[in-house]
Amino acid sequence: MAGKKKRKSTAAQNEIINLTNVCKAYSTGAPALKDVNLHINRGEFVFIVGDSGSGKSTLIKLLLRELTVTSGSINVMGYDLSRIRHRKIPKFRRNLGVVFQDFRLLKDRNVYENVAFAQRIVQKSGKEIKRNVPSMLAVVGLAGKYKAKPRQLSGGEQQRVALARALVNQPTILLADEPTGNLDPKNSWEIMKLLEQINENGTTVIVVTHNREIVNAMQKRVVTLKKGVVISDEEKGGYIDED
Ligand code: ADP
Ligand code: MG
Repeated sequence: MAGKKKRKSTAAQNEIINLTNVCKAYSTGAPALKDVNLHINRGEFVFIVGDSGSGKSTLIKLLLRELTVTSGSINVMGYDLSRIRHRKIPKFRRNLGVVFQDFRLLKDRNVYENVAFAQRIVQKSGKEIKRNVPSMLAVVGLAGKYKAKPRQLSGGEQQRVALARALVNQPTILLADEPTGNLDPKNSWEIMKLLEQINENGTTVIVVTHNREIVNAMQKRVVTLKKGVVISDEEKGGYIDED
């Protein structure tokens, strides 16, 4: 059958993300990513750090297939993202959970509805939704706040709702782009501890952050970008201080 291509299996069985010589240029300005090589195994926890403008969000958008590479190749969960067909993208994205700095909740829906919405998109039954949403809200410490609207919640609570929504469909990979950027230190720590717990339960977690204190304390893999180039990639790394 024309057009039916089998998904290529990745070289290493454990490898869930593979970027090979990835360049990404926007129509204006210097390239946002230059010759990036990055390999992430199933179950890893990875921080992506670097100054503003270094290409972190571009990398996240490539992983989500919101953007495509200018050159090089990117493979996520066995999908070659330069070749994936448009109609396959929703199915691909079902295995990804995403959280952002600005929470992006539905403002006119309550907490329960914000999380249930993600399950409706993937056509879960009412029965499953009634089981999954409360248990996910309990995991993020929001049992008892089901009926609150986003504006009635603190920033930390709103990010927990966003996290519950990202996780309720049990994604293989969780991508977080500066998830603590709008939070105070206490809430930042709580969100990071939740991300760590989610990772311990088997989800591959990739976190973009500027929070040097947390990065230094958590002793995870740290990938540092500078002007679109990976300048370091260390197991149990720290935040690289630049002048
Ligand atoms: P970071 O998330 O590390 O702050 P970004 O990935 O957002 O960095 O941006 C990397 C570079 O690409 C920056 O120079 C930025 O100005 C540029 N850039 C990002 N998005 C666009 C866009 N849509 N069009 C043109 N340039 C962009
Ligand atoms: Mg960014």
